[in-house]
Amino acid sequence: MRTLLCENIATSPDFRHLSTIANVRVDLRYASANNFMGRDMYSPLDCAWLHAEAAHGIALAVAWLAKQRSDVTLCILDALRPHRVQLAMWDALKYGDLQKYLAPPERGSIHSYGMAVDVTLLNANGEELDMGTGFDEMSETSHPEHESQFLQTGDLIAEQVANRHLLRDAMKASGFHGIATEWWHFDCGDRVRVRSEFARIV
Ligand SMILES: [Zn+2]
Repeated sequence: MRTLLCENIATSPDFRHLSTIANVRVDLRYASANNFMGRDMYSPLDCAWLHAEAAHGIALAVAWLAKQRSDVTLCILDALRPHRVQLAMWDALKYGDLQKYLAPPERGSIHSYGMAVDVTLLNANGEELDMGTGFDEMSETSHPEHESQFLQTGDLIAEQVANRHLLRDAMKASGFHGIATEWWHFDCGDRVRVRSEFARIV
């Protein structure tokens, strides 16, 4: 497997800094204490990077939203996650049942290739749209696969599910695929191809 040190990412033409994507908000939660770990997992690393293919996809999603729903803005909550940070998270979740929300070390995360993003939508005031659960809330209510069931039980309301649909529509129209367990997570393109052909950032 090809690897690239996060410290050297700026030397690679395959990656783009998030600051080069117009009209997207960036609020990297693992670069702050505002995450399930309660501490900054990234400092001193700059993790505001994506593979150029995923960065292009984000630009497409921004353009899609500008056309369909100009009152909302895409906000990136996590992008590149170096493999060393993925390992630290895995270790931190060792003693619970939450490890199922992380890709195991031997498999690794698509985030570590700069080809996955965690995203949400902001309203015109810059506030997050109500998705029913918060980012990284590791509960069944966060699982897109259970949305229709939770609508029936009242654990989710129609507006929350509609907001998730809007996010998914924007991302799907731009080359991303969602997953069954996290409304905020999207992989760019084919994960099998990413794992076999792309460099992992370590
Ligand atoms: Zn993710």
